[in-house]
Amino acid sequence: MRLTVVGCSGSMAGPQSPASSYLVSADDADGRTWTVLLDLGSGAFGPLQSYVEPSSLDAVAITHLHPDHYIDLCGLYVYLRYHPEHGQDARGTCRRMPVRGPAATDERVGVAFGLGEAECLCCFDLGTWDQPWQVGPLTIEPYAVDHPVEAYALRITGPSDTGDGDVTITYSGDTDACDAIVDAARGADLFLVEAAFQEDRDEARGIHLTGRRAGEVATAAGARRAVLTHLQPWTSPDVILAEARGTYAGPVDLARPGETYVV
Ligand SMILES: [Zn+2]
Ligand SMILES: [Zn+2]
Repeated sequence: MRLTVVGCSGSMAGPQSPASSYLVSADDADGRTWTVLLDLGSGAFGPLQSYVEPSSLDAVAITHLHPDHYIDLCGLYVYLRYHPEHGQDARGTCRRMPVRGPAATDERVGVAFGLGEAECLCCFDLGTWDQPWQVGPLTIEPYAVDHPVEAYALRITGPSDTGDGDVTITYSGDTDACDAIVDAARGADLFLVEAAFQEDRDEARGIHLTGRRAGEVATAAGARRAVLTHLQPWTSPDVILAEARGTYAGPVDLARPGETYVV
């Protein structure tokens, strides 16, 4: 499996990165490549187009309905409907993009897009996170986590790019420390974990991890490698990285746009 960072800025787009969006790809036994997009936050649809032709995505997985994780679904919708070559109107057929998200995803995207009552999001095949989702060789398991809105961490299992057998990538979405995020990241080969808050600065609980708490979760889960993400534009990456290194002994990096991790 490969994970590519499209955007990793926390809570909003930043000067160096759009908000949360990641591509996960894997090849099946026949050599066909499958690609799933995890989240499509503010600003991410722009650079996404430099990595993949959007209508060729196999699936889109949305962790929760904060704008920094889903709002650019509006851009994807316009692309799928009106692109002169790849769009529904040009092809005369509607290829409905499989999308999974929280229960209110269709309503929220419809409102954001300004759809009339008689219109539907006809370019999306929308479903909810009530069970694991199989996309080609990728199994995506949702774990309900601790955030102010319905939110999920995603545990993705699929074929290794570096050896035989299956490997696991876990994406925390947005969450504070909880049993579910430890379960989601259990033994993960790569743990993409949010570390939005800073110790002794951000006191609120039930919203985000800090660098220290992200490290504690990675340690409790036995994750083999951690990549910290969702740092807000006003936060020092060095501070968060140092926090995480104080509680997690494994390899740990900061997510950067354009970076690809191979497991
Ligand atoms: Zn967020
Ligand atoms: Zn959030």
